[in-house]
Amino acid sequence: MSTQRLLIEGGWVLSMDPALGDLRGADVLIDGQQIVAVGHGLDADDAERIDARDMIVLPGFIDTHRHTWQTCVRHRYADIDPQIYFADMLGRRGAAYRPEDVYIGTLLGAVSALDSGTTTLLDWAHVQNSPEHTDAAIAALRDAGIRGVFAHGWPLVDGATWMVDSQRGHPADIRRLKTQYFSSEDQLLTLAMAARGPEMARREVWLADLRLARELDIRSSIHMGAYSRNAPVRAIAQMCEAGALGDDLTFVHCCFSHSDEFAMMADHGVSASLGVHCEMNSQGIGDMPFDRLLAVGIRPSLSGDTETKCSGDMLTQMRHAFAHYRAWMGGGHSRTPQAPATLAMRDVLSFATVSGAQANGLAHKTGSLSPGKQADLLLIRTTDLNLTPVSDPVGAVVLAAHAGNIDSVFVAGRAVKRHGVMQGFDLPALRERAAASQRYVLGI
Ligand SMILES: [Zn+2]
Repeated sequence: MSTQRLLIEGGWVLSMDPALGDLRGADVLIDGQQIVAVGHGLDADDAERIDARDMIVLPGFIDTHRHTWQTCVRHRYADIDPQIYFADMLGRRGAAYRPEDVYIGTLLGAVSALDSGTTTLLDWAHVQNSPEHTDAAIAALRDAGIRGVFAHGWPLVDGATWMVDSQRGHPADIRRLKTQYFSSEDQLLTLAMAARGPEMARREVWLADLRLARELDIRSSIHMGAYSRNAPVRAIAQMCEAGALGDDLTFVHCCFSHSDEFAMMADHGVSASLGVHCEMNSQGIGDMPFDRLLAVGIRPSLSGDTETKCSGDMLTQMRHAFAHYRAWMGGGHSRTPQAPATLAMRDVLSFATVSGAQANGLAHKTGSLSPGKQADLLLIRTTDLNLTPVSDPVGAVVLAAHAGNIDSVFVAGRAVKRHGVMQGFDLPALRERAAASQRYVLGI
């Protein structure tokens, strides 16, 4: 079968591949799903051509932790005490979610992630109230056409029994998923476990859950050290002492984790995910540990966390990460002498691409524009009024770009956004279904 070749011509290419670097006026050649060449004056007579002379071309962004199912109740909880968010969103409303609410929330979240340049999304799905809820979430990721990591969690019905000193093992339905949906490596969707650590479950439970994830050969993502009540648990140290740390783990937040625990993460190759905008908006969650992670050599990934109290897009995460670090270090707030004195704009771009691919276990497929990787990439217009004239393309992306500047988004070589317009989605129907789900979930 012949595959379609696509030549993206003359762009300002930020490859994020150290061997290639940045190339101005360069081409990216795509064959089917794959990038086959990046360079100047590529020869490809048979390829369809895209003029990128007024574009920055870069890898798609990678989000490593998003509670996508909550998308239909966006922006509602930022003025509300974070503890009430837990009781209301997880305890009350999440328990009443129907499969169709999970589907439409996840679909809207994934489609809008694509619109803002996120080509890979880890869906941290702790709303597995029934197998039908699970099937709905997976169907939504598939229908969105995003590169998705479905991180299977637990039910919110009787939530406290799952999240407070829990004696309940991870739902066994995850075994079905592995066989039913995720037996192939050659697909856009992969499976992970949205797991509970020592702050939520008893020792024998989190140990058994991790054994299950490793038996299924999938990664696990665990919330850690958010809010001071969790600090005394020393969850990372407990896992280290149990010999449970490994490079198949991503820890989310880590704001109140102890400084010696970051060295344990580094020693065992554990990744980190910082939900930057949400962490800054969630008073009491703790200080973002960029300095303490970087001090031990961990380059964190970034995440949109929950759109109930922040913006989920990665441009927002990058911009806030950069500003936070400059303010934090510049203001003398860090007590970590080994932390780098400053952060470059390119660092945060690599957090949103390269680090994200690593934390999602997909560095062999995405995260940079490297020949052999999947063609997950963005075109950002340099002629838009808020960006022109571009003198530093990394600065343009990190400091100023917004979703409206994104001309095109490709996932595995397929255009999901072209000329600023999402492709192949019935957006009016999506809006209508999302509004209906919101009315049900909020009871309005
Ligand atoms: Zn979270």
